[in-house]
Amino acid sequence: MLKWLLVFSVIGFGLWVLVVRNRRSPPDQAPPKSRAMAECAHCGLHLPADDALLSGTRVFCSEAHRLAGPR
Ligand SMILES: [Zn+2]
Repeated sequence: MLKWLLVFSVIGFGLWVLVVRNRRSPPDQAPPKSRAMAECAHCGLHLPADDALLSGTRVFCSEAHRLAGPR
């Protein structure tokens, strides 16, 4: 009886680990910490440099903030 309890708890733990792993996004999809960050000149939002809009020497988070100009 105790043996079956142990077997079921091991199976349950294994299933729980699988569910938790599936819920989490794979670590290789997370942006690397070394990725260059830029700061919006209008609102100060930090965003990846790849997603930033450049206007001269300034960086903006969106087209709307680029048109609004630096604060
Ligand atoms: Zn902004």
